[in-house]
Amino acid sequence: MEKSNYYRNIPKVDIIIEDETIKNLSEKYNRDYVLQSVRKVTDELRLFIKNSNSEDDIKSKIKNIASDIVNDVNKYAVPNMKRVINATGTILHTNLGRAVISDEAAKKVKKLVTGYTNLEYDLEEGKRGSRYSHFEEIITKITGAESAIAVNNNAAAVLLILSTFAKNKEVIVSRGELVEIGGSFRVPDVMSQSGGKLIEVGTTNKTHLFDYENNISEETAVLLKVHTSNYRIVGFTETVQLNELVELGKKYNVPVIEDIGSGVLVDLSKYGLSYEPTVQDSIKAGVDIVCFSGDKLLGGPQAGIIVGKKSMIDKIKKNPLTRALRIDKFTAIALECVFHEYINENNAINNVPVLKMINKSIEEISLESEKLYSKLNSIIGHLCELNIEDCESQIGGGSLPTEILKSKCITIKSNTITTVALEKSLRLATKPIVGRIVNEKLLLDLRTVFIDEIEDVVETFKEVFECL
Ligand SMILES: *Cc1c(COP(=O)(O)O)cnc(C)c1O
Repeated sequence: MEKSNYYRNIPKVDIIIEDETIKNLSEKYNRDYVLQSVRKVTDELRLFIKNSNSEDDIKSKIKNIASDIVNDVNKYAVPNMKRVINATGTILHTNLGRAVISDEAAKKVKKLVTGYTNLEYDLEEGKRGSRYSHFEEIITKITGAESAIAVNNNAAAVLLILSTFAKNKEVIVSRGELVEIGGSFRVPDVMSQSGGKLIEVGTTNKTHLFDYENNISEETAVLLKVHTSNYRIVGFTETVQLNELVELGKKYNVPVIEDIGSGVLVDLSKYGLSYEPTVQDSIKAGVDIVCFSGDKLLGGPQAGIIVGKKSMIDKIKKNPLTRALRIDKFTAIALECVFHEYINENNAINNVPVLKMINKSIEEISLESEKLYSKLNSIIGHLCELNIEDCESQIGGGSLPTEILKSKCITIKSNTITTVALEKSLRLATKPIVGRIVNEKLLLDLRTVFIDEIEDVVETFKEVFECL
């Protein structure tokens, strides 16, 4: 095959841009922007000719050059981030955006951000107000703390707290609580950035009260407790109870600070899970400052919420880092909305999507599975082996790692394509579905699929199996 002929068949850039379709594109978008795509697609075509041994493929690729350019230009005209159907059964899926917020909260956000708001304006006084004022009262009401503030995420909260109280001083923390969170970020590294010096005490499995006490000195600024949210140490273990640590803090006049990880506000043991420490319990135990994530079990927007003693929160508010870590108005509104749900625990369980999914009954999941099964069966039943099976969902997001929720799923094994190829096609579809592969079958866990997404799942299968 003489490839040089094919290279010669690639139209020149000035010819391409005179093409009617490309001209139309240039009217719609910036000319330079279209030119970039023209160059990109022609470069790719050259590479394709170089690497391909199929004359037919090369010919069709040259023939399709205009439509490839159109596709490339259009790719940038729509957002890359899109809604994804989470059929993994992992409720707080970090890669899929962690907590989902309610329709109602999203509507409030939309209404407020498409106009002006009193974000930092005190309507009563007619002067500058605080962006934190809108949710401070509701958070203190629910958690029982004196005061509250929120920053971008919980890692930022830890950084800010320690930077306020422990800069150039010492922070005592148990070796059993040195947590690494997702993306290989380590909480101890975040803490060190505050300028505080970590004094690690005890061992991985056992830390006693005397380990803390023996290390208290003039330099001690904080006794820190970190909830081991994403792992459990079991067996021959011992940790110091919060109230003991609080006693110790009082004795030496050193504040006790707790990073509780997930912001649990309801006793989850009432809903069939194991007990997870709640923010209220920590405040009740006398912890000076507690911080937690907004988008883990709390079920709100990404945020780091700090609650505790007023005198200490006031100091945090004055730290210049607070300005660098401040939340935006989208978050402020969504946060206020989610806390309002917690005024009544039943409201929270029924309206906060994360809690709703945890509490979704097996009967409800079964009904949903049957509905999806019959729809899928009628369109791809002859192409696949389809079944409804038992499966296990997880909380995820580094919360309650040992907890397993019984669930139902649709399992799919195609007669025409491999399970790996099927999983990939579903991911790449217009309305992507993310499932998981177990025993060479694709598994769609219905716990995390919303009832109004069933039709979208069906549509995606039609697209993938080309039976539109
Ligand atoms: C998740 C977690 C963090 C980090 O919170 P982000 O909101 O993701 O920044 C910090 N500490 C603990 C104990 C956690 O579980």
